[in-house]
Amino acid sequence: MLRTLRPAYLVVDEAHCIDRWARDFRPEYGRLGEVREQLGNPPVLAFTATAGRETQARILASLGAGDGDVFVHGANRPNITFLRRRVRQDARPAFVAELLRLADAIGVKSMVFVPTRKIGDALPAALATQGVATPFFHGQLRTQEKEDLVQRFGGHLEPKLSRIICTNAFGMGVDIPDVRLVIHWQHPASPKDYLQEFGRAGRNGQRSVAILLTDPKPDGPALSLLDFMAGLTVEDAKVTAGEHTALLTQKRRLSRQMQTFAFHRSCFRDALLCYFGEARTRPRRPLALRIIDWVFAKHGARAESGICCDVCHARRCSPEDHVRFVCEALTIPPPSGWPTSRAVKSGRRPRGGRPGTFADRR
Ligand SMILES: [Zn+2]
Repeated sequence: MLRTLRPAYLVVDEAHCIDRWARDFRPEYGRLGEVREQLGNPPVLAFTATAGRETQARILASLGAGDGDVFVHGANRPNITFLRRRVRQDARPAFVAELLRLADAIGVKSMVFVPTRKIGDALPAALATQGVATPFFHGQLRTQEKEDLVQRFGGHLEPKLSRIICTNAFGMGVDIPDVRLVIHWQHPASPKDYLQEFGRAGRNGQRSVAILLTDPKPDGPALSLLDFMAGLTVEDAKVTAGEHTALLTQKRRLSRQMQTFAFHRSCFRDALLCYFGEARTRPRRPLALRIIDWVFAKHGARAESGICCDVCHARRCSPEDHVRFVCEALTIPPPSGWPTSRAVKSGRRPRGGRPGTFADRR
């Protein structure tokens, strides 16, 4: 029957499902190239919200459109500021609690992404002892429990929630526009996952912040955990032995790519945009305004409509001073009397504290 149809176009939505290495690979999608051929090779339009350059190439190849044009738009979210902080695993509950207390004090809705259910199960108790009780959303909750949490977090059900801990199970089909702070316990398994998850912030266009916590050094436990999880996923996959190895290699490569970005010493946003193949466009300002910016900007920091990332903003506000950094990014004054890390800001090492730990702020 297909051979008798001659459509003007073939349109494919969620095109990343074509990619056999994608988390949500669907075998039926893998046959779309064959379908297109039987339809007489009509022009094809393929849409996806998440695909790095390699995935884009595999989508085109799979559809028999290897020389097709690729248009990337939407990876850049100028209203989201990125802040990366190196924090030891054992110091993270207190660090996250501090951020959530700050978010509460300034009236900002927050999400905390955790990589595993085990970490998510332990975190609420740790946060509750610090005065910020926060429920945990994960895929194994009963449907009604999940629905209630989403409705409460969305502000449609009492008692409302202003913060939530979640795995990447949160999100499919959920649109909560007023989240302004997204915290990652550690970097996720791929840049694509990170794009999806930090993209929960600032959907209503308000200034928002995405905070990515990392190990103090790149060879910390974050990567080992992702390798372990990749092994479990691949074990469950119904693939041949050769595909098993290739899939594992692919997953390890993506997690290392994300880790490289997490420790990247230049602009974090530029690194992500380059990966997704989206050129960053900075608004061109008249020369006179640029001279005024240069003369009056504090320490010569680049003036932008919003704060880009911890690297671009470092000279104006130390990323170590995360309270002030977050408040500046959100354009909300810090609550009066709220402690700031003056010792770190002034370059003095706090007594008893180590760089990159919660003790920095004491
Ligand atoms: Zn930047």
